[in-house]
Amino acid sequence: MYRAPRPAYDRPCDCTCPIHHSQPRSIYNEPGCHCLTICASQPMTLIAPQINGALFLDRHDVLWYVPGLQPGHWDWRYASPVPAGYPMHETGDLITDLLREANTGLISLTHVQ
Ligand SMILES: [Zn+2]
Ligand SMILES: [Zn+2]
Repeated sequence: MYRAPRPAYDRPCDCTCPIHHSQPRSIYNEPGCHCLTICASQPMTLIAPQINGALFLDRHDVLWYVPGLQPGHWDWRYASPVPAGYPMHETGDLITDLLREANTGLISLTHVQ
């Protein structure tokens, strides 16, 4: 049976983070967060070693940046929305559009039992 998947902002964290596990997550720069970049609470994530971190959409389709510490570890304390304009002008807008479109396209393929 096919069912509309829940939107990411409605999904609880599934990555055993000590403060978010099984909780909905709407703030991304809380101290002590050990979430992965594949946390279910994030609609889409782009790993970007070119800028030593990852870019992801939040629940409002705003693009955020989280710095990488070492492979698989992220410094959520310093996660922040990517500001419009220099130096991410155009690239940031393009990535936001691509992640949003990819999320919409993939969600239409998924189903929940
Ligand atoms: Zn967390
Ligand atoms: Zn998580």
